[in-house]
Amino acid sequence: MSVVPPVVRFAPSPTGRLHVGNARAALFNWLFARRHGGAFVLRLDDTDRARSTDAFARGIQDDLRWLGLTWDRLESQAARVEHHAAARDRLIAAGRLYPCYETATELDFRRKRLIASGKPPVYDRAALRLTDADRARLEAEGRRPHWRFRLGAGDVAWDDLVRGAQHVDGASQSDPVLVREDGTYLYTLPSVVDDIDFAITHVIRGEDHVTNTATQIQLFNALGAPPPAFAHLPLLTDAAGGGLSKRAGSLSLGDLREDGIEPLAVAGLLARLGTADPVVPVSSLRPLIDGVDFGRAGRAAARFSEDDLRQLSARTLHQAGYDDVRARLASMGADLGETFWLAVRGNLSKLDDASQWVAVIGGVTVPVVEDAPFLLAAAEALPAEPWDETTWKTWTGALAGASGRKGKALFHPLRLALTACENGPEMARLLPLIGRVRVEARLRGRTA
Ligand code: GLU
Repeated sequence: MSVVPPVVRFAPSPTGRLHVGNARAALFNWLFARRHGGAFVLRLDDTDRARSTDAFARGIQDDLRWLGLTWDRLESQAARVEHHAAARDRLIAAGRLYPCYETATELDFRRKRLIASGKPPVYDRAALRLTDADRARLEAEGRRPHWRFRLGAGDVAWDDLVRGAQHVDGASQSDPVLVREDGTYLYTLPSVVDDIDFAITHVIRGEDHVTNTATQIQLFNALGAPPPAFAHLPLLTDAAGGGLSKRAGSLSLGDLREDGIEPLAVAGLLARLGTADPVVPVSSLRPLIDGVDFGRAGRAAARFSEDDLRQLSARTLHQAGYDDVRARLASMGADLGETFWLAVRGNLSKLDDASQWVAVIGGVTVPVVEDAPFLLAAAEALPAEPWDETTWKTWTGALAGASGRKGKALFHPLRLALTACENGPEMARLLPLIGRVRVEARLRGRTA
């Protein structure tokens, strides 16, 4: 049996930056494509020319790259208007798209009347009964048509890869408007046309789009194309189960990035939230690719907590290998080599914190002197270089013997003098990095 590699798309509108909710949809698309050797299309849904900007389009691409998601193809809907128009004309010719002239007020009035008489507020297709003369008269009055898609009779069902069997009752739906009075499209038609043209096999998105799916399936059929498979992911909620949308601004990827959150922590958390799998730090996207499985993405809401993200971000750094961070350390001017990285990583909550230890090691440090005579004795007892990670033990062992000190009384004054910090990485690792010249100067109370 030959398996066709999937083609998926992530389709953000460039009317803002990505937030964690849409990043999750992007991530699942990408992981799924990579797992199955398929292709990931980045489709910019930029048909709303008033609200879409190039800056947002670039920002979205920066955000995706930061997360580590690369695309095999970049498409802009605005560049495809002829394809959308051709599909529109085919639907009109087939009698599936029909002009309607009701104003919003008229529609509202009819809706209320239906509700008052206990009927579902479904559009009554009055426009289908208009004659050519009626239409000519309405147009002469200055009315412009909007266009509705004539839904087929009967129910629509699909097997959602996340939600299981889905079923929408045909009689409960109004014929949806696909083209506005000014000739612009609502999202549905361009989306389906592009999904067909790009041979999309799986539409993976948030469950806020479940309600659009039955219409879209009918539209695929009307345009003579088999519908793709659908996977609707549960929306993210906050820890209390409420919507994230109010806070979405503060949870933009741009802000998280600026805040020093590790992209692998964002990916690791978003990939696992709401699944049965544990959230653990990862050092590449590979384990997330291998683990992506819609069957494991439960239907329950996925609770997103910024605190969890911060913790995962710190844990991601604590286990990051030197090669994983080397380039970023270098660009911060904080690449002091692997020994340095292994010494400090466990004490970082953000990568930027590494600069603090660069400063402690090689910068000008004003020692905190708690007990000058003890520190002078410690300076006298310093072994000769070369130093390594055993030097601390040899040195402090000798000091313990000579001074009778142990535990905190022995170590704390040394740490304060050498680093001017109460806490930090293991002194055994820091000592050789600081080096004898500075260590001795600091023990003697000199800034070095
Ligand atoms: N541009 C749409 C959105 O951002 C795409 C939805 C879809 O994936 O079909 O909501």
